Amino acid sequence: MTDANQPGGPAQEPEVPATDAMRCRSCGNEERASEGYPCSRCGTFICLICTFRGITLCASCRGETPVA
Ligand SMILES: [Zn+2]
Ligand SMILES: [Zn+2]
Repeated sequence: MTDANQPGGPAQEPEVPATDAMRCRSCGNEERASEGYPCSRCGTFICLICTFRGITLCASCRGETPVA
């Protein structure tokens, strides 16, 4: 990783920055917070994948055991 400090290097990162990662309270996956949606009841993070599957409530709001 000798080129990490070069000025003007490529800005794109191959991995999702950890600063933007949040754990989905429905499926437990870590996804980008900016690409997810809040639970419609409590506002906790639900990932885009769950939203696509029609999920609008987190696990605890559905009465299930919350993901760790
Ligand atoms: Zn999810
Ligand atoms: Zn909720």
